[in-house]
Amino acid sequence: MSYQTSLTRRYSVAEGTMAFHFERPSGFDYRAGQNVLVDLVDPPESDAQGSGRTFTLASAPHEPDLVIATRMRDSAFKRVLKSAPLGLRVTIDGPNGEMVLHEDAARPAVFLAGGIGITPFLSMARHAAHKRLPHRIVLFYGNRRPEDAAFLDQLQGLEKANPNFRLVAVMSEARKSGRVWGGEEGFIDRAMLERHLPGLEGPVYYVAGPPAMAMAMHQMLAGAGVAGDDMRSEEFYGY
Ligand SMILES: Cc1cc2nc3c(=O)[nH]c(=O)nc-3n(C[C@H](O)[C@H](O)[C@H](O)COP(=O)(O)OP(=O)(O)OC[C@H]3O[C@@H](n4cnc5c(N)ncnc54)[C@H](O)[C@@H]3O)c2cc1C
Repeated sequence: MSYQTSLTRRYSVAEGTMAFHFERPSGFDYRAGQNVLVDLVDPPESDAQGSGRTFTLASAPHEPDLVIATRMRDSAFKRVLKSAPLGLRVTIDGPNGEMVLHEDAARPAVFLAGGIGITPFLSMARHAAHKRLPHRIVLFYGNRRPEDAAFLDQLQGLEKANPNFRLVAVMSEARKSGRVWGGEEGFIDRAMLERHLPGLEGPVYYVAGPPAMAMAMHQMLAGAGVAGDDMRSEEFYGY
């Protein structure tokens, strides 16, 4: 389905990373974790990649706005999003995607996010807290530095609000940060999962991020004996 809507707010959520709010069109419904194709209507400029991009909604279904978040690369699409006056008209196609939280609350969920791959998990974590879902959820969230980690404060807040939700933030270049980092360092790997989870078999695993990260996570999980049926993923093609 295709809907017309417009840009209502934009702000920074990490270094070089912005969130954009759109009015929620009447009749548009979605599940936490789903994505949409955002197409600019009559953009002042466009490039070879065209006037549309796919984004996972970072907002949760109970919230009034549709929110996307992205690293601000210098493409025509992102230049327009960043600088056009509020009210910019866009078409939203969707919702699409099957990466939504499983129903069986007896099985924990383990979310593995790389960078801006956090968007579906922010949506799912907000949804789980709002609905007081009984699922145990552990989110491993990898970034270079805390400055690069979009929505880190909100996720820390969700950890306090929802006793079933745990955040393990992981920095690969913490030493290059201006902040003191006392959390996990390096890349998300099997040893890190084993430190934070009672066992690797049992949870349903969800992976989102750039294709190279998603592939590395799949290989790691397969090597740990996790069945393919227990892995769900959203590769951010285009990164
Ligand atoms: C299911 C799904 C969900 C997604 N969710 C999100 C999300 O929540 N947030 C998000 O930020 N992104 C998401 N993406 C990715 C998003 O659709 C875009 O592909 C991404 O943001 C890059 O857009 P861009 O305008 O910066 O780059 P584009 O202009 O689209 O370029 C795409 C690629 O080509 C490269 N490139 C661009 N120009 C050149 C050039 N001149 N020469 C060589 N290489 C070039 C870029 O480095 C990039 O790797 C998602 C993708 C999918 C499929």
